[in-house]
Amino acid sequence: MSGHHTADTLEQRAKIALRDQFLRNAVKFTTKKLRTGKQTAADELGNWEAWRERGRQIRLHTIAHLDYYLSQFVANLRAAGGYVHFAADAREAVDITLRIARAKQAKSVVKSKSMVSEELHINQALEANGIEAVETDLGEYIIQLAGETPSHIIIPAIHKNKSQVAQLFSQVAGTDLPAETAILAGFARTKLREKFLAADIGMTGCNFAIAESGSIVLFSNEGNGRMVSTLPKTQITFMGMERIIPSWEDLEVMATLLPRSATGQKLTVYMSAITGPRRSGDGDGPEELHVIIIDNGRSRQLGDPEFQEVLNCIRCGACLNACPVYRHVGGHAYGWVYSGPIGAVLTPLLNEDRTKWGEVANASSLCGACYEACPVKIPLHDMLVYIRRRNVESGLTAPAERLGMKVFRLAASSSHAFRRTIKLGRIGQAALLRNGVIRAKWGPFKGWNAGRVLPGLAGQPFRERWSALEQELRDDSTEMSDEIRKRLQDQLEQRRKR
Ligand code: SF4
Repeated sequence: MSGHHTADTLEQRAKIALRDQFLRNAVKFTTKKLRTGKQTAADELGNWEAWRERGRQIRLHTIAHLDYYLSQFVANLRAAGGYVHFAADAREAVDITLRIARAKQAKSVVKSKSMVSEELHINQALEANGIEAVETDLGEYIIQLAGETPSHIIIPAIHKNKSQVAQLFSQVAGTDLPAETAILAGFARTKLREKFLAADIGMTGCNFAIAESGSIVLFSNEGNGRMVSTLPKTQITFMGMERIIPSWEDLEVMATLLPRSATGQKLTVYMSAITGPRRSGDGDGPEELHVIIIDNGRSRQLGDPEFQEVLNCIRCGACLNACPVYRHVGGHAYGWVYSGPIGAVLTPLLNEDRTKWGEVANASSLCGACYEACPVKIPLHDMLVYIRRRNVESGLTAPAERLGMKVFRLAASSSHAFRRTIKLGRIGQAALLRNGVIRAKWGPFKGWNAGRVLPGLAGQPFRERWSALEQELRDDSTEMSDEIRKRLQDQLEQRRKR
């Protein structure tokens, strides 16, 4: 298990990631590729902003009427022969899953990729009850063998290279496998096929649930979702309660936005739509289908004007690829299931323990690149500010930061105080200033100057320069063209009127 998982604080985890040059190169390379792919796919489609707005409107409408669409979905799924369970939290979802597994006397389970199941730690719970759980998405399989968690929503093993994968697979194979992609993929395919055929239960996530027909829709690129949902006799689907959309028509918009935003693909390779268990005459499919609808902190966001929109997320990962912080530290630094900007918002919201998770909202420069990348226009950068404000209101910030902010408030409360503070600052910095910059690496300068230098306060502040300029304009002997003099005088006049 990597050090990320045992480090307690965001700072410790980020430091571990920053020291890992391989991880940094791999994340940088892959996120760039994904960003470029997304841009090309969006340009090719045309009217991307109109598509984004349409996607946003669908998600806003659905979440605003979530109770209605969930009831409709549940009624239609039951009518199609499926079983529906509601889980208020991760523990309830695990209990329901274990109950079903025991009733089926299950010995082994195959899983396709599901981020919500990561919230439940379902694999550990199954293993603790003597049930083998095997991830079948290639990336998920790799990180399961490594005993890690996904470091990207779409590409869980973004931080691993071929040699590391070869080592992991060699342990399973009991012989040394070469670090060659085709051989490694071939090994995983053979191994996983045995697991598909032997599994008692198939477990899937749910990209979208269609209210009007009670269907579950799975997007996958490897076909494993289809194997998981057709071979085992029992299927359990984990569904975050917000995964719903009203109609098939809405799916068309989502199926356009999601793969393009995630990987730059026009369409996902496999799109499976499942409506109830196998019916007589069906060639395949499970005999029993259970859908567990999971809350786990989501309903707390409903009705909250600042955070309800976070439920609009379609888990495409585009905000991760755009984020300058994620691109440096990768996913494990965020400490929980979700990473990047969406993780920095979801983690403190879904986990009630703000003392532990509130700080994750600091992993952002607030540049807004996440909002620009998001296909459903979630204002993540605003939400990060709201979470930081809540942290301050709950007294979660460090005493030194609180003191610093109090001093800043006093200094910035009037222009007189501000000028005096700047004057004092200029006097105070004299001993530290060398060639216009401060390089000290102690006390308040430690963090900033660890990776860059702090520019000193200007010798002549802007206000003084402006007054000097006014003086020069009044002085007719100052050399400048009539046109520039006129323009500057107009600007000064406007400023005086304001
Ligand atoms: S917040 Fe937006 S960009 Fe980020 S994963 Fe969700 S839908 Fe994608």
